[in-house]
Amino acid sequence: MWCASREIINKHRRHPTFQFSVVHIMAIVKHPTLGVIECVRSLRTRSIRLSVHPNKNIRLTYPFFVRQKDAIAFAESKSEWILKTRKRLEERRITIPTINRATAKDLLNEARNYLPTTLARLAKEHNFHYTSLRITSARTRWGSCSGKNGIALSIFIMILPEHLREFIILHELCHTRFHDHSAEFHALLDSLVGGKEKTLNKELRAYVIPRILE
Ligand SMILES: [Zn+2]
Repeated sequence: MWCASREIINKHRRHPTFQFSVVHIMAIVKHPTLGVIECVRSLRTRSIRLSVHPNKNIRLTYPFFVRQKDAIAFAESKSEWILKTRKRLEERRITIPTINRATAKDLLNEARNYLPTTLARLAKEHNFHYTSLRITSARTRWGSCSGKNGIALSIFIMILPEHLREFIILHELCHTRFHDHSAEFHALLDSLVGGKEKTLNKELRAYVIPRILE
């Protein structure tokens, strides 16, 4: 194990001079299996805390009366959790694509042309009744259906291939009959897409909604 330590001194400004007090001491420990551990011995904590940062370093914060080797032993006992957390952080690091304002405006124009007619066509084809359509720039969901059967659809549907656009619209139309994700809802939607609901949902999950650059 390799160690290097440095002191972090907090400055407390007091009239008329400065006073210094040591609030915590940090040591960087290179652990053979866990990697880099930032060991923070702090006056402000009464228990040992462990966190994994997105840059994958581990931070161990513990009270002054706990020895570093005991704190590290604590981290070692949590190694399974550490590995799981690192994996989760890694998976979450999908890069979100960005588009500029002009592209977003193009999407809106395309959506205004496409969504009302396609929604009307699919509703007629499958005998659904909706009360209104609202076109949004929602990034968290492709669409929604209100209790009064008003449908909202995101302009970002336009980044998808045709079959997935229709799949989303059908999903919202099915909500005009079932306002939940019950077995009946899924059975209806599945019957409208030739038994491919699961496959289409999986395909849809591969798309990341872009962020609009200011
Ligand atoms: Zn739904």
